[in-house]
Amino acid sequence: MTPLSGSEKSFSVNFKELKEFLGKHPVCLFPLNDETYKLLSNYPEVIDENFLKRFLVYPTGKESDKHINEYLQLLSSFPASLTDILPHFFEKNDGLGKFLQMGLSSGTKDSRWEDEVCSNLTKLKSVDHKGADIDLIKTVRMVFSEGGLLEDILEGYEYRQEQFMTALEIAESIEGKQGIMIEAGTGTGKSLAYLIPSAYYSISKGEQIVVSTRTRMLQDQLARKDVAIVKKLPNLEELRVWTLKGRERYFCLKKYFEELEYAVGSGKSKNRTELFGVLLWSIKTGSGDLDELHLKEENRNRFTATRFECLRKLCPFFNRCPYYNSRDNAQNADIVITNHSLLFSEAHIRLEDSREGEDEPIGMLLPKFKVLIVDEAHELEMSLTEAMSFNLVPHEAVSTIRKAINCSKDALRSIRNHFERSFLEELWGRLRKFTAEIEKILKTIVVSYNNCSTDEKHSIDNEELEALKKDIGELYTIIQRFRAVLIQLLRMVEEVAEEEETPVLEKLNMELKSVTSELDGLIRQLLGLSREEDGRVVYVRRTVTNNGNHLIITSAPIKNDQLMAAIFPDVPVKVFISATLWVYSGRSDGFNYARRILGLNESFHAIKLGSSFDFQEQLKFYIVKDMAKYQPNNREYLNQGANLISEMLKIVKGSAMVLFTSYKDMYYVISKISEELLDIRLQIQEPNNSPTAIVNEHVNSENSVIFGVRSFWEGIDLPGEHLKLLIIFKLPFERPDDPLINARIKHYGTKNYVEGLNKYYYPKMITAFRQGIGRLIRTRNDRGVLVVLDNRIVDGNKIYSRKLLRSLSPDVKINVIDGSRVISELRKLRRTKWF
Ligand code: SF4
Repeated sequence: MTPLSGSEKSFSVNFKELKEFLGKHPVCLFPLNDETYKLLSNYPEVIDENFLKRFLVYPTGKESDKHINEYLQLLSSFPASLTDILPHFFEKNDGLGKFLQMGLSSGTKDSRWEDEVCSNLTKLKSVDHKGADIDLIKTVRMVFSEGGLLEDILEGYEYRQEQFMTALEIAESIEGKQGIMIEAGTGTGKSLAYLIPSAYYSISKGEQIVVSTRTRMLQDQLARKDVAIVKKLPNLEELRVWTLKGRERYFCLKKYFEELEYAVGSGKSKNRTELFGVLLWSIKTGSGDLDELHLKEENRNRFTATRFECLRKLCPFFNRCPYYNSRDNAQNADIVITNHSLLFSEAHIRLEDSREGEDEPIGMLLPKFKVLIVDEAHELEMSLTEAMSFNLVPHEAVSTIRKAINCSKDALRSIRNHFERSFLEELWGRLRKFTAEIEKILKTIVVSYNNCSTDEKHSIDNEELEALKKDIGELYTIIQRFRAVLIQLLRMVEEVAEEEETPVLEKLNMELKSVTSELDGLIRQLLGLSREEDGRVVYVRRTVTNNGNHLIITSAPIKNDQLMAAIFPDVPVKVFISATLWVYSGRSDGFNYARRILGLNESFHAIKLGSSFDFQEQLKFYIVKDMAKYQPNNREYLNQGANLISEMLKIVKGSAMVLFTSYKDMYYVISKISEELLDIRLQIQEPNNSPTAIVNEHVNSENSVIFGVRSFWEGIDLPGEHLKLLIIFKLPFERPDDPLINARIKHYGTKNYVEGLNKYYYPKMITAFRQGIGRLIRTRNDRGVLVVLDNRIVDGNKIYSRKLLRSLSPDVKINVIDGSRVISELRKLRRTKWF
């Protein structure tokens, strides 16, 4: 066996030579990308190494000629019985199929492959660490001080005063059982600064700590990179850290086996090769976390169960279920790493379930922790809002009802010989009647908001709200009736199944339970939407997805501060940390906005630590003086901005990002400049594109520029060469007519609207601005240029501009110059290779 060598990035295929080469070599290993895969599918001798890499543990050796043997060895550790089903997934001549056959058949494991799925999940045992005598403050000093332990274990580590201070403050706060809020600039190394004190505290006191980050990506990064460093420290080798995500991220055996059965039975399933790869992975994985596989979202959903689809304890695979295993591990871990959305959705479920008196404690997913560390704390407001909102998406509701009626039809047919025909007909008649009524109400709702545009949220109040609530109330009643018939049908299916156990009845039983569970989710949302509750705003909006343009009705909480204060009241130590919590204030310590949105009282301890960057050296900051004044839809501003952006991008030719606040402005600018920038790859954010995919594309492309809207203002990490020029098109004000923003301005402005602007609206914009510019300088070696087109930032008459400028680091030197000068400065910086 001889491998072809080549790197994924730069490999180009000479097909003539390849054909000759393959002629002589029966098996070849070849790193492929999608394009070459299509071309090479005509060559059955070629093995897709990407497949092996994605689904198997990647071999450790660097040289590709070693890989074949390593893969073969690894395959031989799988049950040989997998070879029985292998032919269902690969074409006869497929090189990869042949290779897998060769590897799997050499295995000696004679177990049934079905029993091996998820048999290697990590199971954390409860350990009592109590007794480790650790002086937390002294240990933190030893780890973080100059010449400390971190320098010993981490190659290239540089002492950072801000990191030391952050770790010390957190240690003192945990020891003193008091909360703290810390603003620690980018580059401080805050992950280690909170993980290490947490780890030592947990080990010495035997208490669990929950760390919440903004995204799943950050969760994985913490677990992979930072936890590995923490565990190198003395006494922390045995530290048990578990990453906990929402159930939709975990592999569901039930759904997977259904899919597999279909693929094997019909031979028709989509992506059969992928299905087999997932099977290999499922046998080896320790977590069952599908994020390990980088599947496309639509494919991932085929293998996960929503809480409405999950059968919980009734599921035949419950004991091997990765999601429930993960929950058990979270109970036993010293540190649990979770994300904000899970943190709040659990809190919400807990609240809602306790209201409805559900038996199963589905909201008790997180362990009983006494210390909560919240990273990227500025984001909590948004996560809380999302978790505490109720939504009705009419087209999804229709699809649930149709799924239910189709399933009922099959069930009625299957039990027809066991019950009176007239009785079954009556049930069917009722279900059809309810379906027609439900669809009619949903249609009425959709039609009444036909004029609602995709770009804005339309507030619903007074009579309109009354009418909507009436429709939703009716919908709720009919769906409850529909559900009652479905439950009756389910009981009948169960009764028949007791007499004659057939696979069809078993499948129907499962499907009916699953669809009932989905209906429960819909009912829960309708109940939330129809509830007469103060402190909520109801609005409609349209969203564009691949399946069309859909209406969403939302009820969101206004008083996020009060909700936040009520969450986890029994957790004494809450540590909030972020690079942007502080907003300049002449009258307070600058943390009142953060305290407000986090529901903390005015005396909650807060500190601001500086940045470890040298902004004078690393950042050039220009504000374009001669831009027209920004006004919504002001063509002069848009055209002037478009011209400047185009000129700047022609100079830097990539490694840039342009941040907008609305799709409308962004699309307008792109339409004006795209033809002038043919040699530049524009990575344009679309409403449903994942920012991660765009960032990956940007990082792997030359001459690439990102055009992004809101989600690109924060959480995007583009160090070094990937971002040299950041252009801010407009200050990131939220639309004041957005129903939720407007309601919150009024909520915080108890005296008047201006008070609400000062206490909520302006600080929110300033935080977003600071987040945006934080994308540019990510490490001590970065250098970058920031250009802000919106010159309201230097308008001395505006309260917000004075606050904003004072909220920036004092090292930042701002140059307010004309657009033409910005262009010549940029040319000069390029010429002198400043960046
Ligand atoms: S318990 Fe739920 S998530 Fe787990 S395998 Fe069963 S259905 Fe899937």
